[in-house]
Amino acid sequence: MTPEEFRRHGHTLIDWIADYRAALLRGEHPVLAPVVPGELTGKLPSAAPDQAEPFEAVLRDLERLILPACTHTQDPRFFAYFPGNSALAAVLGDLASTGLAQLGLNWQASPALTELESVTTDWLRRMSGLSDAWHGVIQDSASTATLVALICAREQASGHSAVHAGLQSARQPLVVYASEQSHSSVEKAVRLAGLGRENLHAIEVDEAFGMRPEALGAAIAADRAAGRRPCAIVATTGTTATTAIDPIEPLARIARAQGLWLHVDAALAGSAMILPECRWMWAGIEAADSIVVNPHKWLGASFDCSVYFVRDVTQLVRVMSSSASYLQTAADGAARNYRDWGIPLGRRMRALKLWFLIREQGVQGLQRRLRHDLALARWLAARVDATSDWRRLAPVPLQTVCVRHEPPALAGEALDHHTLAWADRLNASGRAFLTPARVAGRWLVRVSLGVETTGREHVEALWRDMQAAARAALAERVMPS
Ligand SMILES: *Cc1c(COP(=O)(O)O)cnc(C)c1O
Repeated sequence: MTPEEFRRHGHTLIDWIADYRAALLRGEHPVLAPVVPGELTGKLPSAAPDQAEPFEAVLRDLERLILPACTHTQDPRFFAYFPGNSALAAVLGDLASTGLAQLGLNWQASPALTELESVTTDWLRRMSGLSDAWHGVIQDSASTATLVALICAREQASGHSAVHAGLQSARQPLVVYASEQSHSSVEKAVRLAGLGRENLHAIEVDEAFGMRPEALGAAIAADRAAGRRPCAIVATTGTTATTAIDPIEPLARIARAQGLWLHVDAALAGSAMILPECRWMWAGIEAADSIVVNPHKWLGASFDCSVYFVRDVTQLVRVMSSSASYLQTAADGAARNYRDWGIPLGRRMRALKLWFLIREQGVQGLQRRLRHDLALARWLAARVDATSDWRRLAPVPLQTVCVRHEPPALAGEALDHHTLAWADRLNASGRAFLTPARVAGRWLVRVSLGVETTGREHVEALWRDMQAAARAALAERVMPS
């Protein structure tokens, strides 16, 4: 493709994306892709084309085959998982990044990539009220950032054993603590860091699903008494199921007293830290060792853009460096070599989309949008609270409302069945997409707000649709057709 052909097809594609986003505002697509596994595969040729095809044919198939198998995360009626906003300014930033095709192997390979990443992560640090003791790097995902954190914690606790015999030389197993509500990426990181799943100890939560510091203290004492070696605590600001808040301050006190690494998983809720009124949620954060925040979620920076903040860069570089280069770079401070701040060697210019987004919205624009989402969540929570047979199952500090329709006659398994039935019914209608979750042994339905274009009218329609779906599911139970 020549630059001139690119110009022509590129214009067509930009128009197509603009039309797609406009169609989402009109509710033209079923939110959840109405396809079965293998359906798209069956429509695609099993082998690559031998001969070049006209680019128009590719774009046609994008519309005809790919689009119908997409679930529309940017639809204002998407309330599933978490908001994965891809603001259009960020889409353009991503395009510019690919167009520039920078390879971030080191500073020299792309001074712009390195320095823009330092500057934008530092903007985000200031926007989030973090002190200048923190340094940011963009990772692909929170899962990777948490793995990096636990590897650093492991190396700190084991006296940098990785450059000797590794954990194979350890006499005492290292133990990691997280609440029983922590994200599955924590368990995965524990496994991948070679610590062993049995050495992840799940700590009990309180009635608001936040970690109980006394339970953590007791678990640490019990592990020490049993000859194990406590290594790290992963606290979550905004858990996945209910956006519960682990109390950082008391957890940090324990971490300090016990010499443990404290990693804070604020993948979703970190975006809200640009709002001063939300910062109570991570009070005590300055005593943590590492934090992960995903601007690719609520903030709108487009997947993938996950920011890992650390305090001790020298330690990070010592663990992640592929050579002794840290001695010449991090130590003298002349230039960062981000390959030594994480796992991959090369990196994309992910900072560009964050930079486009922040500049196009301004901090105030981003704050206004998040506040709007918080207000929508409070509005829905109030409706649920005021409606008989509906119950809210967790506090709503952020944008997620956990609900259950509890008709008097239903309990236990039958209630679970009903919950899943009305959620499935609503999802199958294409009018909204919600994801159920199992919390405290029972299914509930999460309404995760925060898509950039979701307005009050969408949440009002959702609430009507939820009630209608629950009524219909109940009628079907009583009178199976
Ligand atoms: C989304 C989420 C993750 C996982 O994020 P990825 O970037 O997809 O790996 C981890 N923890 C929490 C609390 C999350 O909300």
